[in-house]
Amino acid sequence: MRLSRYFLPVLKETPAEAQIVSHQLMLRAGMIQQLSAGIYNWLPLGYNVLRKVEAIVHDEMQRAGAIPILMPTIQPADLWRESGRYEDYGKEMLRIKDRHERDMLYGPTNEENVTDIFRRHVQSFKQLPLNLYHIQWKFRDEVRPRFGVMRGREFLMKDAYSFDVDQAAAEAAYDNMFVAYLKTFKRMGLTAIPMRAETGPIGGNLSHEFQILASTGESAVYFDAAFEDVDFSAETFDVEVLKSLYAAADDKHDAAACPVPPERLKSGRGIEVGHIFYFGTKYAEPMDAAVIGPDGETRPVHMGSYGIGVSRLVGALIEANHDEKGIVWPESVAPFRVGLVDLRPDDATAHGLAMELYGKLEKAGIETLLDDREERAGAKFATMELIGLPWQVTVGPRGAKAGKVELKSRRSGETVELGPDALLQRLGA
Ligand code: ATP
Ligand code: MG
Repeated sequence: MRLSRYFLPVLKETPAEAQIVSHQLMLRAGMIQQLSAGIYNWLPLGYNVLRKVEAIVHDEMQRAGAIPILMPTIQPADLWRESGRYEDYGKEMLRIKDRHERDMLYGPTNEENVTDIFRRHVQSFKQLPLNLYHIQWKFRDEVRPRFGVMRGREFLMKDAYSFDVDQAAAEAAYDNMFVAYLKTFKRMGLTAIPMRAETGPIGGNLSHEFQILASTGESAVYFDAAFEDVDFSAETFDVEVLKSLYAAADDKHDAAACPVPPERLKSGRGIEVGHIFYFGTKYAEPMDAAVIGPDGETRPVHMGSYGIGVSRLVGALIEANHDEKGIVWPESVAPFRVGLVDLRPDDATAHGLAMELYGKLEKAGIETLLDDREERAGAKFATMELIGLPWQVTVGPRGAKAGKVELKSRRSGETVELGPDALLQRLGA
């Protein structure tokens, strides 16, 4: 992508309305723009990262055996009357009437909807286990939308739903998602600690939240120091061991009843990026979603639901990856892998070399943002630092004459001078 033809409306000043660094940087880097409280436009750079996060979530869900579908954002109230949640959900639910005066709602979650799909098509245990998921916009009329996309009113969520013949099978499905979550976050370079959680309006009896540690997190969190020795990049996990380690957010933590001795109890602040629930037959019973078991008896299906805050993750990633100059994207979610600075588009040699490198990088499938604007060097560098692409390549007149360019790692700040071929090799082109 050539920056001269892109749409990157960066801001010079830090907007006063943004309290936390991820919100400030997302606005300054031209990633998002607020339309209404808690409702955002995703501009090209932000949308690019959102899709990268989404792609990782899709991939890890499907690796874990979940099947993608797409359910609508607007749902009929009658379905929610069946489960009893239409009345229970309260003011967070955005209620709408259609032209026929029928009660509709903008979905805050999809348990009822997916249970309805299930009950119409699945009758036998032989069709189980089943896990259906989608990535879709949700609306929750939060009392206090804040921190940009971290607590929005409209936000993008991945929600998966498991269906099993009995509790034991459902708990295995839960553990399978538990592991998929650890892998998903790790692929984005994040360590998320699983914590025992309250089940809230989703209901049920077994639940974990996945919390990323960050000083700006909304909840205080407490966890066993043993978590610091867990290898989160492992291929397999002993879920029983992880579940047995103490970790809880403030709503569940009770200092008096905490089983971990004070010298082993760590505390910090956490951003909740995922939340999983096993809730048994809570929806299956009132909504009549049943299967015939191996014994020929009909029984309600056991369900779980599994959420990931896809749009919140973009903010959380920045909270975990930034410095005083701007964002520092991990490679797996970077909007472009390389930022190529054509320092002097008016210098034939430098410009020619920059264009040649740009062509080769693009051809090799390496996403590159070429800064070909007629701008001061200082402005170009400041933009690159702000948007935080993992690799910066600078092509200037002096170097180009000597057949050299500069490669800089945004994360370490290390720079090397090298020839064009060596550069392409280093970047895997
Ligand atoms: P919270 O406790 O943060 O209000 P929740 O427990 O109500 O979240 P869930 O129903 O568990 O949320 O939703 C699954 C995931 O969706 C959460 O773990 C979070 O990452 C994300 N999420 C929930 N509410 C919001 C929101 N208002 N804005 C952005 N992401 C959200
Ligand atoms: Mg939650």
